[in-house]
Amino acid sequence: MGFGAASGPIAVELARADLSVVALERGPYRPQPEFQQGLDGLRYATRGELIPRFADQPLTFRTDPSVEAVPRPNRMPSLVGGGSVTQAAYAWRYGEDDFRLKSALRERYGATRRLEYLEEDGAAIADWPLTYAELEPYYEQAEYAFGVGGWPGNLRGQIRPVNPEEGNPFEAPRQNDYPFRPLRDSPTSLTFRAGALQLGLHPFHSPAAINTARYTSPYGITREGCTYCGFCSGHACWNGAKSSALVALLPAAEATGRFELRPDCHVVRIVRRGNRAVGVEYVDGTGRAWMQPGEIIILGAYTFQNVRLLLHSGITGGGQVGKYFINRAGPLVYAVFPDRYLSGYAGPGAQSQSVDDFNAENAAEEKLALPADDFFVRGGVIYSIGQRHPLECYRQAPPGIPRWGVTFKSFLRDNYLRLMALYLPGEPLPYASSTIDLDPVHRDRYGVPAARVTRQAKRNEIRMARFLYRKGTEMLRAAGASTIWGRDLPVPVATMTHDVGGCRMGHDPGRSAVNGYGQLWETPNLFVAGGAVFPTLSGHNPTLTIWALSFRLADALRRRRVDLRDAARSASAAGG
Ligand SMILES: Cc1cc2nc3c(=O)[nH]c(=O)nc-3n(C[C@H](O)[C@H](O)[C@H](O)COP(=O)(O)OP(=O)(O)OC[C@H]3O[C@@H](n4cnc5c(N)ncnc54)[C@H](O)[C@@H]3O)c2cc1C
Ligand code: SF4
Repeated sequence: MGFGAASGPIAVELARADLSVVALERGPYRPQPEFQQGLDGLRYATRGELIPRFADQPLTFRTDPSVEAVPRPNRMPSLVGGGSVTQAAYAWRYGEDDFRLKSALRERYGATRRLEYLEEDGAAIADWPLTYAELEPYYEQAEYAFGVGGWPGNLRGQIRPVNPEEGNPFEAPRQNDYPFRPLRDSPTSLTFRAGALQLGLHPFHSPAAINTARYTSPYGITREGCTYCGFCSGHACWNGAKSSALVALLPAAEATGRFELRPDCHVVRIVRRGNRAVGVEYVDGTGRAWMQPGEIIILGAYTFQNVRLLLHSGITGGGQVGKYFINRAGPLVYAVFPDRYLSGYAGPGAQSQSVDDFNAENAAEEKLALPADDFFVRGGVIYSIGQRHPLECYRQAPPGIPRWGVTFKSFLRDNYLRLMALYLPGEPLPYASSTIDLDPVHRDRYGVPAARVTRQAKRNEIRMARFLYRKGTEMLRAAGASTIWGRDLPVPVATMTHDVGGCRMGHDPGRSAVNGYGQLWETPNLFVAGGAVFPTLSGHNPTLTIWALSFRLADALRRRRVDLRDAARSASAAGG
């Protein structure tokens, strides 16, 4: 179900393994050359032409169960390739402790700092049922299949071994180098770098799933390099340099002759017989209803739709489906540099440099020195954002500047080329009170209830946001910014592009909905692919990890390591 970031790798790998694969995708098929007309910030990034309307994919949000949820705009697009088509394409690996957060926090702080406030706030931190080392080969497979550029920071345990200035010294060990080097620098990324170096931090080029020159993947698909057009995040790439399931996988799946793509087909229910899923009901583009049978059914429709369809189909995982939802809510910080021109009008969003000095527990000593009421666990990457169109800056004017009229126009005319933004995503934690369920009021055009999100930032997120905001402003000041502004609190309502949890993976059917392959304990021939299975989020963007998990599942299915009748046996065959 869906042909996007999570389901794409599974579809292509299973078709190549001679299985017969059908992809039911609710969005249209837009061949990549169509996007040569796509350099239009108003049409795509601002008005969201590729994003479904509320009646097609409704989503509601509330911060507290006592209030009625209100409709929220969806930010994920709907088309063949899904969010991978319009993403910015930052392509991070998670760190080793991201897969064992509960254990890592106990080891790090057990003796030194009491974490009762996390318990009081209902934090539900868990270890993943797999390790970084188990996922590492699949990270590499994803990096080569999609094409990810970067400098290695930790090659087989050697720190910054290739270019001592450029790799991320905090990254987990990789067995092999990236397929190619990162995007070139811009005035924005170099300004960020200068500020970071002033403060003794360790800046490096953000890894990105964007070809920097013509690249041929292991599937034999050749795509061109980036032209730095600047209509990237929120857009489909005009020449296919940005990697997505549409351009990096679909041709390989179709070449097998075993893959059938059915666009404009909206799945409305999973059909079960006993503990087996026997197929899905869907409505095609003409409005006609169908039933598609399948021996293995994989949900790859993004977190909200995956959870919503499970619940609507009566699959609750013993109450586990819908629990422990996590969304990214970190602040942004903006600045004006009076003495130089920056480059928000050109280049991809991911043309940036980053620091990981405040991610995970890399700043643990500094955090331990904070007053008890400011202490928090975890942190997040900080990076400069490459692409910033004038229309985006409209929402981001400094305090005192209205968003209309002569004053606003003068501000933009004088400062647009001098503006910079840093992203401080932070790592929100899972909480028992953060859920996705079915909205009792709102439904889509097919009568399926909307996904209703209940989530509120807690003390850990608020303290982390303040800390990261302070670090971001220090970096901008060190780089020479004059005016700095933003918000040192988590964004109150979800950003809705890094949404994970709701179908947590684990070892124990009593505490998780799926095993380490995303296989439902309750319905073992039904799988969830994508961020919904994440027990925790990490301070890095999620998509490379989504891709790696999907390649791992495809490999396990191909090698018949998954028991389609008993999810517990699959888990034990995989070493838990
Ligand atoms: C503007 C933007 C920038 C982003 N930047 C980054 C980034 O830099 N780095 C990063 O790591 N992540 C980024 N992301 C997030 C990234 O896009 C997601 O993590 C990723 O796409 C999630 O994969 P998925 O397969 O779960 O969902 P998707 O890729 O969205 O795929 C889901 C597919 O399922 C289809 N579908 C939904 N419901 C149904 C249904 N009922 N029936 C049939 N089909 C259905 C959808 O149409 C869609 O095609 C960004 C997202 C956006 C929108
Ligand atoms: S900036 Fe590069 S990757 Fe992004 S849309 Fe333009 S050509 Fe494609």
